[in-house]
Amino acid sequence: MQIKSYLCGQWLTGTGPETELTNPVNNQPIATVCGQGLDLKSALDFSRKTGGPALRALGYGKRAQLLRQIADILVENRDRYNQIAQENSGNTVGDAGFDVDGGIGTLKYYASLGKKLGEQTYLVEGPAEQLTRDENFKALHILTPLKGVAVHINAFNFPSWGMWEKVAVALLAGVPCFVKPATATCLLSYEMVKDVVEADILPAGALSLLCGGGRDLMDHLGSDDLVAFTGSADTANMLRQHKNVIASNLRFAVEADSLNACILGPDVTPKDAEFEFFIKEIVRELTVKAGQKCTAIRRIIVPKTREQDVISALKDRLAKTTIGDPRDENVRMGPLVNAAQLKAAEEGLKVLQTEAEVVVGEDNANFSVDPAQGAFFAPRILRCENPLHAQKVHEVEVFGPVATVMGYETADDALTLGAMGGGSLACSVFTRDDAFAHQAALDLSASHGRVLIVNELIAKGHSGHGVVMPQCIHGGPGRAGGGEEMGGLRGLYFYHRRSAIQTTTDRAQMLLDQGLSLA
Ligand code: NAP
Repeated sequence: MQIKSYLCGQWLTGTGPETELTNPVNNQPIATVCGQGLDLKSALDFSRKTGGPALRALGYGKRAQLLRQIADILVENRDRYNQIAQENSGNTVGDAGFDVDGGIGTLKYYASLGKKLGEQTYLVEGPAEQLTRDENFKALHILTPLKGVAVHINAFNFPSWGMWEKVAVALLAGVPCFVKPATATCLLSYEMVKDVVEADILPAGALSLLCGGGRDLMDHLGSDDLVAFTGSADTANMLRQHKNVIASNLRFAVEADSLNACILGPDVTPKDAEFEFFIKEIVRELTVKAGQKCTAIRRIIVPKTREQDVISALKDRLAKTTIGDPRDENVRMGPLVNAAQLKAAEEGLKVLQTEAEVVVGEDNANFSVDPAQGAFFAPRILRCENPLHAQKVHEVEVFGPVATVMGYETADDALTLGAMGGGSLACSVFTRDDAFAHQAALDLSASHGRVLIVNELIAKGHSGHGVVMPQCIHGGPGRAGGGEEMGGLRGLYFYHRRSAIQTTTDRAQMLLDQGLSLA
């Protein structure tokens, strides 16, 4: 099967060698793609000139209806998508649901938020303020959708959710999308976009898809465009230093990797329910999508006196996790996405081992297949003796089922360790102590995009450490990229330009009356 790109309203293939997509269970090829040699300049222009005006003319409410229609089409084909996720990403049924339903759920969420909005075409921030002694001279701020194209560059681990969580907000805002999924898993993005195109829901140019290639994308962008990038910090840094990105000063948001932490409060003992929930959450984060989640727990911060309790509880749980072919319903964890990711995980593990020892390793893993037949990687727990003075364990993200236990002496040290990730997407704290919970919320929020604080009361009802909810912002400072996505209607701001309008009272009022206020 050959995967195509959807550009200028047509399905196209590039010229040059094809790249193979594989099934990581057995490394067998399942599809090919070539995105080289495509005319990206014309394709981006088509999005700007055809898709942009058509979307902007619709207004927020009508665009929300389009999101709902997209979600409905995807729901109809959900089983096929789950199967693709299984074949191309090595996803278990649960993993595939995480990605596929995550995407559909986000579209539905923005569709229902948008349903409450009217047919306005811009946002306003009022009231108008008087600027001089002249009572008739007023100012207000308006936010209009960007007139360029939103280029979405996505990571391999969420070919569905990663795509739709960005597209939902951009389309609601009225900005055409130009999606570049990661090549390794672009089959699912391709199939989904194909179904949406065939259903003829969107105006021409509103949604384009580039599969494979894209190395010259940055060359063709201008100041009206924006880039929302998700992937590794290294690629993000390379792309945002592109001369055209710097020269045009276009908006460039990054959701990168991070060394997310999970902290066991100083008060929690193994007899407390919170201890059990803490262990459960870590195992879930290690095994869902085989630990290939940007939000997955990489650092396990526990009181020094609890280190051994935590390690043995994790060891027990992980020994019971069946790892194998995701088509087998007993399997709880599949392989990594491909041989290249397996190699990267093995190399990353070696770097962590310069500062930490493996305390739960390959000998503890419960494989139901020969791991050598595909990209299988046994969960690893490491222990770092001196985490306050270590570096690599706070810096190196092994994108797989790997986490390091770090012991602390005082509550302040626990929070210091939490911040040593240099800016992360998510941190969770398990504690019964309200004072520590409060201190942790205020302290960790400086270095984290999201902080989940759990006690027994919400242990069964919370949404999970690694689950990105569209109501909340997703992103993190520093190392995590500095981006901020979603967060309900807050997400619209990224796709709008704010401008101060200075004019007469009547004209200011007219702008206020016809625009949409989110306040
Ligand atoms: P990656 O290698 O950095 O690639 C990310 C995207 O950048 C892919 O679409 C890739 O395309 C594209 N790309 C690479 N070089 C490019 C270039 N010169 N020009 C244009 N595009 C280029 O990351 P990945 O391996 O796919 O994803 C894993 C990483 O993503 C992990 O580190 C993870 O933590 C991070 N991640 C972060 C989040 C978040 O929300 N913060 C979410 C998911 C994943 P090709 O595939 O064609 O190379």
